[in-house]
Amino acid sequence: MTNAELQQRKNAATPRGVGVMCNFFAQRALNAELWDVENRRYIDFASGIAVLNTGHRHPRLVAAIEEQLGRFTHTAYQIVPYEGYVTLAERINAIAPGDFDKKTAFFSTGAEAVENAIKVARSATGRPAVIAFTGGFHGRTMMGMALTGKVAPYKLGFGPFPAEVYHAPFPVALHGVTVEQSLAALQTLFKADVDPRRVAAIILEPVQGEGGFHVAPPAFMESLRALCDEHGILLVCDEVQTGFARTGKMFAIEHYAVVPDLITMAKSLAGGMPLSALCGRAELMDAPAPGGLGGTYAGNPLAIASAHAVLDVIRDENLVERANVLGNRLKERLNTVRERVREIAEVRGLGAMVAVEFHDPATRQPDAGFARKVQAAALEKGLLLLTCGTHANVIRFLFPLTIEDALMDEALDILEEVLGT
Ligand code: PMP
Repeated sequence: MTNAELQQRKNAATPRGVGVMCNFFAQRALNAELWDVENRRYIDFASGIAVLNTGHRHPRLVAAIEEQLGRFTHTAYQIVPYEGYVTLAERINAIAPGDFDKKTAFFSTGAEAVENAIKVARSATGRPAVIAFTGGFHGRTMMGMALTGKVAPYKLGFGPFPAEVYHAPFPVALHGVTVEQSLAALQTLFKADVDPRRVAAIILEPVQGEGGFHVAPPAFMESLRALCDEHGILLVCDEVQTGFARTGKMFAIEHYAVVPDLITMAKSLAGGMPLSALCGRAELMDAPAPGGLGGTYAGNPLAIASAHAVLDVIRDENLVERANVLGNRLKERLNTVRERVREIAEVRGLGAMVAVEFHDPATRQPDAGFARKVQAAALEKGLLLLTCGTHANVIRFLFPLTIEDALMDEALDILEEVLGT
């Protein structure tokens, strides 16, 4: 079956709403490489949207999944529990920031973790409202969409959304929004729209993922924590994209002198198996009554087994340090290229969560066309890159942290070539 034949069948059989970036079909993959059905090889700098911090088919993940496959694949944890779920919760409670008792529940998708964060926050505080930020992305469920701070394409035609969700501007210096302006907007929100005593939670990504890899300034994060403490609001960090060593820390919030009350996790948690988690203060996590949390597939045994292997690999292969090494190497290369390529507006990121933003050098307006051109040229040369950003003018880098040095060099050479042409 060729890519073209599959493409035709795909278009006839599946809805366009499931937008697909590539016009080739995966055949197999290993670590940071992927081959299509016509045996063409790609260096994978997408990692299935930040899922493969430990690479494709890491042997230890494969072994863990195979071992579990030989025992049982599903019982529904809420019917017949299993030890792996409990042990994984213990491990996450131990590594998540915060010097207090924690509890963790597992789900399948990032959006589900977010949904449950809001459920727990409302249940624990008895308050209805939630504040999120412009440019934030929190998933495609109804609450996920409501919290997401970008209309097209995520919210188009899908409303009405759950009530009592408010947005404040996320501080992005490059786009002219300062920390002071964001904080002032929150005060305006409290005056104009919602009494802070009715706010259950403020949710944000420490580094906005889909929104453009904008790093929350430390002063902003600290002010949010203070604001939450002042009004009895819970601080929720959505670490679905930032978690599990990507930013050069296990969790991005560890870059800050701030501890959140609840943390959502997914993506690289289980290295390609569908698993998400909500970890938080024990007393908050225990607010919902038995039966209020869960799901048939939530905490699937194969995914749990895979997540244990992910944590082992991150520890044993020093992937936290490796993220910093690889991220620095990428940033250095981009900053060298920057001297020649005037479309580069900014190179930014934490650890290996790096992005490059493009603008028109004359007008300084976001240049999505340039980002698209670089992406297409890289793909032509076998390097799979993702874009992001409210204006789609950012290229983000999400290579496996297990990528071999030689392959990283090959990818950086392609990148330099396509940026300069
Ligand atoms: N939150 C963040 C920060 C994300 O990046 C994503 C996915 N891009 C989600 C939530 C939703 O995760 P999922 O697609 O697994 O539902």
